[in-house]
Amino acid sequence: MMRRILTILCLLLILLPIMGEAEEPRKVVYLTFDDGPKQSTPELLELLEELDVPATFFMVGFAVRAFPEYAFEIYEKGYAIGCHTMDHSSSGIKENPEQLESILRRFNEEVQKATGDAQFATTLFRFPGGSTQYPYAAKKKVTDLGYSWFDWNAMTRDTYSDMNKKEILKAVKRTTGEQEVVILLAHDGKKFTRDALPEIVEFYRENGYEFRQLADTQEEREILSRCAAHLAFPEQ
Ligand SMILES: [Zn+2]
Repeated sequence: MMRRILTILCLLLILLPIMGEAEEPRKVVYLTFDDGPKQSTPELLELLEELDVPATFFMVGFAVRAFPEYAFEIYEKGYAIGCHTMDHSSSGIKENPEQLESILRRFNEEVQKATGDAQFATTLFRFPGGSTQYPYAAKKKVTDLGYSWFDWNAMTRDTYSDMNKKEILKAVKRTTGEQEVVILLAHDGKKFTRDALPEIVEFYRENGYEFRQLADTQEEREILSRCAAHLAFPEQ
């Protein structure tokens, strides 16, 4: 009996370190909501709180001005806030990337006014429509100014006209595929996205994903280095 126990103990001593090494790489999902705040933002915030998941809001400066109290709520609840320009237009930036400096400054000022936090300054940016349509100079300008920018590698397709809850869920699953680090594109103010959100969260939870917010930290840089989405951080 004693020998048997000893044998099992020895086996465990050999096997445990091997099992420890075989640890799976982390699966991570970043939920991102663009184009807000909107009239219905409080409904989205209530839902996110119920589901207990972090999220990143790429807000539009003029929408912050239109709904400062909702921008404040997003800020106060600790969600990540990123700049999605002042008016969601792309032409000015394409023609003159230098404009990005004043766009980012005005965006921060707008959020400062809404939140009462005079120190507020985001380090996150998302190009309207995604980075691929912009010249290299624009992308470089963003990182030169100290901001990181992010596209996405999975989407809800919630801006398409014929979407519904079921189609959104299908799009999320299909575009996520086997990817281990996912930035999901969704939009604030979309009813069907809110309807689908509990099942979207359940889908990622069941598949072992951890929910995180975008940030320019060493930990996020390491996780996002495994992400297939177009993105860039400022040089350190
Ligand atoms: Zn947008």
